[in-house]
Amino acid sequence: MNRNDELFERAQISIPGGVNSPVRAFRSVGGSPRFMNRAQGPYMWDVTGKRYADYILSWGPMILGHGNPEVLRAVHEAVDAGLTFGTATELEIQIAEEIRRLVPSIESVRLVSSGTEAGMSAIRLACGYTGRNKIIKFEGCYHGHSDRLLVKAGSGMLTFGHPSSAGVPAGITNDTIVLEYNNPAQLEETFKELGDQIAGVIVEAVGGNMNMVKGTPEFIHAIRDLCTKYGAVMIVDEVMTGFRVALGGAQSVYGVTPDLTMLGKVVGGGMPVSAFGGRREIMNQIAPLGPVYQAGTLSGNPVAVTAGLKTLQLIQEPGFYDRITATSKRLTEGLTKAAADNGIPFTADYCGGMFGIYFLPEVPHRFADVMKSDDKLFGRWFHQMLDAGCYFAPSVFEAGFVSIVHTDEVIDQTIAAARDAFASLRAA
Ligand code: PMP
Repeated sequence: MNRNDELFERAQISIPGGVNSPVRAFRSVGGSPRFMNRAQGPYMWDVTGKRYADYILSWGPMILGHGNPEVLRAVHEAVDAGLTFGTATELEIQIAEEIRRLVPSIESVRLVSSGTEAGMSAIRLACGYTGRNKIIKFEGCYHGHSDRLLVKAGSGMLTFGHPSSAGVPAGITNDTIVLEYNNPAQLEETFKELGDQIAGVIVEAVGGNMNMVKGTPEFIHAIRDLCTKYGAVMIVDEVMTGFRVALGGAQSVYGVTPDLTMLGKVVGGGMPVSAFGGRREIMNQIAPLGPVYQAGTLSGNPVAVTAGLKTLQLIQEPGFYDRITATSKRLTEGLTKAAADNGIPFTADYCGGMFGIYFLPEVPHRFADVMKSDDKLFGRWFHQMLDAGCYFAPSVFEAGFVSIVHTDEVIDQTIAAARDAFASLRAA
């Protein structure tokens, strides 16, 4: 038994499933999760000392790679100045100003500690602002685990409030409407029927929680147009895509101006900072200015905000997004070719520093497509890659990420490992 196996056994005694977030448990791919204890640049090391090229990057935040010296230096200074004050700080103004500059649809922004809080607060605000109750979300999109958003739909059908988690009372999700992603006609029908009751539409413009599935421009612009027409709030969840697919986020890629935006991951540079912000008129409904309540003991924590602020400064280096996009392209094209050479049905796609790899013959456009993935084949490939020192997300429903320090050399080593893995899948 190696040390990972030992720790996994021990963890399961004191922690449900041995993990503090479910996907970490390797349930869909089997085996023991790797217990990491160090990371630097594009790599992480587990407790046995084994090194892995990291393609999850803490699920997105570490766009500069692990252990960026400038971020660490700033964080060390912030730690020395005080861990938390629970008061207003100048740092919060600085990060808010930086966010407003980089994402111009955000006129005013509130910091929270997780994407879940950002989503929960954004829909509460949409309801408070419009005086309406219904929220539209899309199948396969994840916006955190707050009760009203923990709903998924049956295959492509309009589903009114079937909770997908136990413990969420149906009464709470009755006003959550789940529609098919990339289906503007269905959205329009729903607005025609219920338009005056719909407070807002929440969407990942580039879906990253059903593997990576890009919204079509028609779909994203239909959301904008219908929200405007019916007086609903358009919420773009950029927790994953913000500062990841482009400096201005997915909204800059699509040329769309949401009413509210959620941010997370990169905005905290590896520490717990998330945010929601948007039109001033809407944000002014938040306490203490307005009647929509929202608060947090550690919101705007100075150490966390320092990591985020420094990260936001460093991603503005000229050529940063060209470089990271080229890295995603090199990786996905290399993997696709290695699979094709071995006759494995496989495709891949990317957007900035985010990518999807699919054990499917075609790039998926909606949740139902992703559901057809060959997860058995993926599980075998995943373990071979892990053994070869390449850490991809342990599920067919997760996106992947690269950082600015994933050099061509790192990518090419990964592609070479993948070629061997595909060859052994073919041989098996
Ligand atoms: N929205 C999106 C798009 C996400 O990807 C995630 C997390 N993966 C969340 C919200 C929730 O964020 P958190 O895990 O920080 O609560």
